[in-house]
Amino acid sequence: MSRLLIRGCTLWDSSPGSVYCEDGRVARITRGGDPEVPPGTDVVEGNGGSLVPGLVDTHCHPFDYGWLKRGVDLREAGNITGVRMRVSSGVMKARPGEWVFGYGWDHERFPGKALPTRADIDDLSPANPVALSRICGHIGVLNSAAIGKLGIEGKGGPEYERDSSGALTGIVKEEALTRALQEIPKDPERLASDLMNVESEAARLGLTGLHCIVSPEGYREELTALSGLLAGGSLSVRYRVYVPPEALEFVKAEGLREKMRGPMARLNGVKIFTDGSLGARTAALREPYTDDPGNSGLLRMKDEELADVVERVDSMGLQAIVHAIGDRAVEQAVDALSRVAGSRNPLRHRIEHAGLAPRDLRSKMAKHGIRAAVQPSFVTSDTWAVDRVGKERLRDLYPIRSFLDEGIVASGGSDSPVESLNPVLGIWSAVTRGGIVPEESIPLPKALELYTGLAASNGFDVTALEEGGPADFTLFDADVTGMHPALFRKVGVLATVVGGVPVHSFGVP
Ligand SMILES: [Zn+2]
Repeated sequence: MSRLLIRGCTLWDSSPGSVYCEDGRVARITRGGDPEVPPGTDVVEGNGGSLVPGLVDTHCHPFDYGWLKRGVDLREAGNITGVRMRVSSGVMKARPGEWVFGYGWDHERFPGKALPTRADIDDLSPANPVALSRICGHIGVLNSAAIGKLGIEGKGGPEYERDSSGALTGIVKEEALTRALQEIPKDPERLASDLMNVESEAARLGLTGLHCIVSPEGYREELTALSGLLAGGSLSVRYRVYVPPEALEFVKAEGLREKMRGPMARLNGVKIFTDGSLGARTAALREPYTDDPGNSGLLRMKDEELADVVERVDSMGLQAIVHAIGDRAVEQAVDALSRVAGSRNPLRHRIEHAGLAPRDLRSKMAKHGIRAAVQPSFVTSDTWAVDRVGKERLRDLYPIRSFLDEGIVASGGSDSPVESLNPVLGIWSAVTRGGIVPEESIPLPKALELYTGLAASNGFDVTALEEGGPADFTLFDADVTGMHPALFRKVGVLATVVGGVPVHSFGVP
């Protein structure tokens, strides 16, 4: 039997106390002094820090993040020499012939602002193919080994840059870069170690659960890696898994719904895309972009097509989670989901991001019990959003307070690697909004709920810090009750407990 005592923490009503857990459940909450516990009980020292139900990130891409973490980070390179130094250490670590991937270079920061070329990196890696994508992800540079491996030396078109002599410079753009990156093999073994790497970071950050979005390009390998780790008992945080529609055949053939039914990993639903992003002006708007009057963005599917996919997912008893950022896309998602949701939405279908959500759409969501998964960090990161949608519409962009006030279940997430996986930063953004549309700010206890009770609910889980409840907790390194919101950003995590087991802790010997 596993036994754990978290001693000397601050409970949510600001009283000091201890929580004793047995076999993954809360057995006893004691206020004031130390409780008696059986010998052999593990102890985590709370040091007065706040203990809250385990934080859950309800929208992230751990495989994509793991992939980036393994790549060569070029964000700090201030010139070509800086790029070369970092790439050469990446090449040294790679196996013979293995692809070396780097990301984040920005020639705008280089003296002379010239784009890097294959000539700049060829001597570093004559045998290993190298692909380095720019910070924006729309342009990249390949070395000659990569060009040879891809067989693109003779390719024409604007996506392949050529010099005055007609030779490829190594710079590839958009689709050509995407195709090159897709060539980099993703074996399940490598993905599994990427996931373990992200998982340990998640635990350090206080996350006990991740709503894991599986990618349309790599779902076979990603699901194989995840189910392998689950079968081997290697997962230490909880995964709620969302697959793309194209993966459903594979899910069925491999019996993944049966394999992923447990508390550590459960296949919850299907992620569907309706539009793009505000940053790239591909989010579908009802009215044109304020800074691009000829453009209203793009819907990826016709209304009927989306409705069909949603109906299919619903009929399988799975949760549909629909990416929608522009108000036209949110409208399309609401229409499709409301057809299957009735008034209570038993399968908890939800809209991911739900970026531009004016009142008429919110009231339809509330009426049908349609939920939302929001990313508070977008508010503080997308400081340019007012240029895209103008002052008027900005009022309804990421309206987190309105969602909650109007009875819509909304949960928090990072969309990592788009934003930092750190939930403290998301909570802080929900509270402060960096001063952007401050009417939509929410107080700290509400913001915590986005990542605790509401997050659990959005994934068919239950969480509560009460006797008999699940022993999933996050222990902060300070008493956050009554803390000034600006200070919350610096709060750290002393311990993360999943099922009564500390998966990250400074307190257990
Ligand atoms: Zn996402």
